[in-house]
Order: sequence, then structure tokens, then C-alpha cells
Amino acid sequence: MILVFISCSSNVRGTGNNTEDQEKGNRSDVVEEVKSLEDYILALKNLKPMLPIANSHVATFDGQLPNAPRKYRNGYHEGFDFYDGFCGVEIENGTPVLAIADGKVIRTDTLYVEIEPEKRSVLLEKAKERGFTPAATLDILRGRQVWIDHGNRIVTRYCHLSGIQHGLKGSVLKGDTLGLVGGSGTKSKTPHLHFEIYFADDFFGKGMKPDEIRVLMDEIFVPLTVNE
Ligand SMILES: [Zn+2]
Repeated sequence: MILVFISCSSNVRGTGNNTEDQEKGNRSDVVEEVKSLEDYILALKNLKPMLPIANSHVATFDGQLPNAPRKYRNGYHEGFDFYDGFCGVEIENGTPVLAIADGKVIRTDTLYVEIEPEKRSVLLEKAKERGFTPAATLDILRGRQVWIDHGNRIVTRYCHLSGIQHGLKGSVLKGDTLGLVGGSGTKSKTPHLHFEIYFADDFFGKGMKPDEIRVLMDEIFVPLTVNE
């Protein structure tokens, strides 16, 4: 069941102090709150989304899916990784990252500054000590980001980017280039896309098993070839 109400609060989480175009809160437009996971999944499916890397598939390695444990910070992976060799296409620094569906740009880290390795290590140690990874730390670990709001409290996050499409703002269409694959925010700097789907305050895949996630992704995402 979908409940429609008028909201004056933000439906976007995160900190992102180093962003230029990020819109924080104060939204007064109509927001549709979806009541259950099934409703969110249906709403996402109705967007007829494509994967954010052209001609790719969801990673074959479980550790690159949401809900995979991340022991080094006592937390969980919240998104899908697209690494070269695991998702059916070549992925390198500069591979285009595409909008999975129509939406509105709500964050572009155009003024992104990479965290120093020592500070990164300290944050990870603290996370380990606390037994969970704070949201602000997760935000830093995601590196340079673009976020797209697709309505129905569905937001997608495109992370570790090496660059952002010039002039990116306002509305985007499915398949529009948002930025370029990179390794920002990561220790190894190995180029890959980290991609998250957020349903209100929870990431897609939370609590799910890898095969469960793969089946759902196959049902939701439309195979689409680009530039062929
Ligand atoms: Zn990742």
C-alpha cells in the first residue's frame, strides 16, 4: 500500500559537507511514503531501471553485494560494487557511470577533497571499537558521490567517482552520464563503482542473502545495452 502525504522534511540522509550542489532538507514537495519493502521494490520496478554501468550484470562475487560483512570496520556493505572482472564488462578509471532511471540530482560532490590516509585509518579503528560504522564515516568512505532522487523515497548513490559530469544538476534521464568510475574514498584506489539504492532510511538488500538479492535485481532491472 502506498501512502501519499505532504512532507516538509528532508528525505535525504548523509552529511556531505564538501558538496557544492547538495540540497539539504526543507523540501516541501509531495513525497510518497512507501509502507513496505514490497512496495518499495514495486516502485523501483516501475521506474524500469537499468544498471549504472552499461552492459554490466550484478557482481558474481557475494562480497560485492549489499549486506556483505565488512570486518575491518565492524559493519556491512551497503551497496553493489562493479569491479573489472566481476560484472561482465571492462571497468577502469573513467568508465561512464549512468543514471539508473529518471530522477532529480540532489547531490554532486564537485568540491570533493580526498581524506588523508592516516585520518581514514583512525576513522576505521574507531568504527571497529564502537562495533558499527557511523553514518558520517560511511559518507567519507563513499568518496566522491552523486545522488539521484527518483521519488517514492527512493534515492540512488553513485560513489568512489573520479569525476562528475560537467554541469550536472536538475533532472536527469535514465542512461544519462553522471560521472566517471574512480577509487575516491578507498584505500586501494582500485577503480570500481560502489552503487547504493536507498529506500527511505534503509539500503536495498539489508538483511538479505546474496542469491535473494540477485533474483530480485534480475526481476527489477531491465537489461539494456548502450552504445552498441
Ligand atoms: Zn562498495
